[in-house]
Amino acid sequence: MILSTTLFSQDKIIYLTFDDGPLYGTRTVLNILKEEDIEATMFFVGRHAQRNKKIFNYAKDFSNIVIGNHTFSHADGSYAKFYRNPEKLIADIDKAQNILCNTKYQRLAGRNVWRMPEVSRNDYAIKKKRRRRESLAYDRVYDAGYFIYGWDVEWRFNHKNHKALESPQKMASRINYAYTRNKTKRKGKVVMLAHDFMFKKRAGGGRNLRKLIKILKRDGWKFETIETYSDQRPEDFLNISNIDGLKEIKYRDQIKKEEKSCKRDDSATNNTSGEILKDNFLEYFDKDTEKVNKKKEENDDFEEDYEIIIIDD
Ligand SMILES: [Zn+2]
Repeated sequence: MILSTTLFSQDKIIYLTFDDGPLYGTRTVLNILKEEDIEATMFFVGRHAQRNKKIFNYAKDFSNIVIGNHTFSHADGSYAKFYRNPEKLIADIDKAQNILCNTKYQRLAGRNVWRMPEVSRNDYAIKKKRRRRESLAYDRVYDAGYFIYGWDVEWRFNHKNHKALESPQKMASRINYAYTRNKTKRKGKVVMLAHDFMFKKRAGGGRNLRKLIKILKRDGWKFETIETYSDQRPEDFLNISNIDGLKEIKYRDQIKKEEKSCKRDDSATNNTSGEILKDNFLEYFDKDTEKVNKKKEENDDFEEDYEIIIIDD
């Protein structure tokens, strides 16, 4: 009796993570998370944060979210090349880190890779030979002090119109399946990946997201940020690979703990040159969204997609 009580009293923790912002859809996601009073993680692309300063600054004011680092360039759409050169990879991630509040929470572009004390896993969608080679680059990122977070379940989308391919009900059951069948990297914890642009107005707004959150709440899930996923904190460690391939973790006593610097006037976020950077590196950008993006660049006040959605339930 006692045993079964213990078994069933385990917390079910859902880590909602949103990639590729600040972009169309980011405000919608932020507002819904706040209205639903839950915690989540936004893995921002450094270049997008630099470009979409207003949305980025807006995001910094939300205490219920943790901002993670999703590289600066998002590999410029060329993943094989991106992971071939560990030094360039680190430089790209470090560049984003300076823009993104010195976060040490990292998600690689285009790869479901994990590196932290409890979980080390490569992306099995990549062919063996390349996976083995890229693995060295992932290790370098970890050794540089970042924890890398992949995902257990992805909310997939149509690459043309960015609409969700699965209903909120379907996603809730996939999350539950991963949990009950232990198909997660850590027991009792499910990391879900979604993309901000899935919730832009043209993709149906935030209705789907709100519905999913309501179902998960009803089913007793706890919502947490990626900060609680590992029992360790990336800020506290320096990771050194030893010759046996095992991770030796050393306290970072000698290194001054970096403080989060999410100030509104962070000079790193100010693009004063007025230069408009080309923004077509995300392979799923269609012509339509490029048009929207151009409009956004021309008018900094352009807010494309926030709408208030009322669901009667
Ligand atoms: Zn991405």
